[in-house]
Amino acid sequence: MQREQISVFDMFKIGIGPSSSHTLGPWRAAQQFVQSLEQQRVLPIVQQVKILLYGSLAKTGHGHGTDIAILLGLSGDDPVTFEVDQVTPKIEHIKSSHQLILGGVLPVSFYAEEDLMFLFNESLPYHPNAVTFQAFLNTGKAVSETYYSIGGGFVVKEGDSGQSKTEVDLPFPIDTAADLLHWCIKTGLRISEVVAENELAWRSEQETRTGALNIFRALKECIYRGCHTTGQLPGGLNVARRAAKLNAKLIGNNKYSNYDEWVAAIRNTGDSFKNTLDWVSCFALAVNEENASFGRVVTAPTNGAAGVIPAVLQYYIAFCDGNTDQKIINFLFTASEIGSIFKKGATISAAMGGCQAEIGVSSAMAAAALTECMGGTQRQVLMAAEIAMEHHLGLTCDPIGGLVQVPCIERNTMGAIKAITASQLALQSNPEKAKVSLDAVVKTMWQTALDMNSKYKETSDGGLAINIPISLPEC
Ligand code: SF4
Repeated sequence: MQREQISVFDMFKIGIGPSSSHTLGPWRAAQQFVQSLEQQRVLPIVQQVKILLYGSLAKTGHGHGTDIAILLGLSGDDPVTFEVDQVTPKIEHIKSSHQLILGGVLPVSFYAEEDLMFLFNESLPYHPNAVTFQAFLNTGKAVSETYYSIGGGFVVKEGDSGQSKTEVDLPFPIDTAADLLHWCIKTGLRISEVVAENELAWRSEQETRTGALNIFRALKECIYRGCHTTGQLPGGLNVARRAAKLNAKLIGNNKYSNYDEWVAAIRNTGDSFKNTLDWVSCFALAVNEENASFGRVVTAPTNGAAGVIPAVLQYYIAFCDGNTDQKIINFLFTASEIGSIFKKGATISAAMGGCQAEIGVSSAMAAAALTECMGGTQRQVLMAAEIAMEHHLGLTCDPIGGLVQVPCIERNTMGAIKAITASQLALQSNPEKAKVSLDAVVKTMWQTALDMNSKYKETSDGGLAINIPISLPEC
């Protein structure tokens, strides 16, 4: 059987918030549709496009910015490079001018009310996050393609196997935690070293290091920006940003003017339990407030859960001894491998598995990464991931108003703290005596996902989403 091959850079992708499955994935799908029109040599003769959103993409698409992402993707913009402060002006221009520049080259008329349909009561069988693009040509014919956003920014086109990426010969093929442990035992390599060897199948060591440090730069810029931005989050829930106020309170009179000085200033505030706890929450809030504001974030493994891994990494940098390039790379590599195991054995899509698939997986990734970097054995690393997920099992996805704000932002603080606790527990334990393996918890998570009522899977049809009275402005 063909194994899915997932690189560190598939797991950690730079993009724009607020959702990897509902924003980044649909954005990528729209880009792929335009590329497909180019490949079929019909792009110049397109007269009109229509978009049909199904299932969870329809139900929470407004709150998650699915419509915005698709319009930008169809316009030929890229989520990695598009200036985040241009999102609102560009969308307003498309809507007021009733014109979309398809692929950045071909003006087509576009009326959002008629051309972008939210099919709230329709779902496609393959996956709840489905979008169909239709392009009507001047020949009277039409091109129609359906894409599925399967979580974490991964996209599958209907009819494709989902493995369009070039296959490589990985020295250490891994599907399960048992596979990973097998290679560690056989070679004596640490988990991050196994990942580093596998990454060489895709690119050189230098390219991999540069790419990983680019990911880290995006993470730290996101945290720093979030810790220094005040105001309210968009979307109509009127949620106040809290990270900047908390940062100001915690940092006190310590002065700084850039990220590195900020880290030194954080260290100056002391390492009492309460202070450290507050800082970890502050880091996670910062990232997810950026995410909710259509800011630049990194899927880790998703956007909704984008704050957990950076918060734990920032904790490692500021409160442990993690402030070196190699340690940061080891952290990201280990986290990525654990995320891959969950994606292969279960899911990282909240529309498939609820919030256990997002916050639970990110917490397991962070717990493992911290344990690896704190010197834990390979078995302790896997144990940390297992503990973190074990205590997220069954966590539902019920975002109020379909916005990635409540409970999502605070939930990232919980995922981060649980990750640190899980890591400490593993470091203080003998994994030989553990009753539950990581593979058993992956299997359990998947079974729980299958049993979970669909109203708890990113539909805003249940949970907090229906018990908190709100009135949002019409989109
Ligand atoms: S509740 Fe969890 S899974 Fe759902 S949108 Fe929020 S963070 Fe993502």
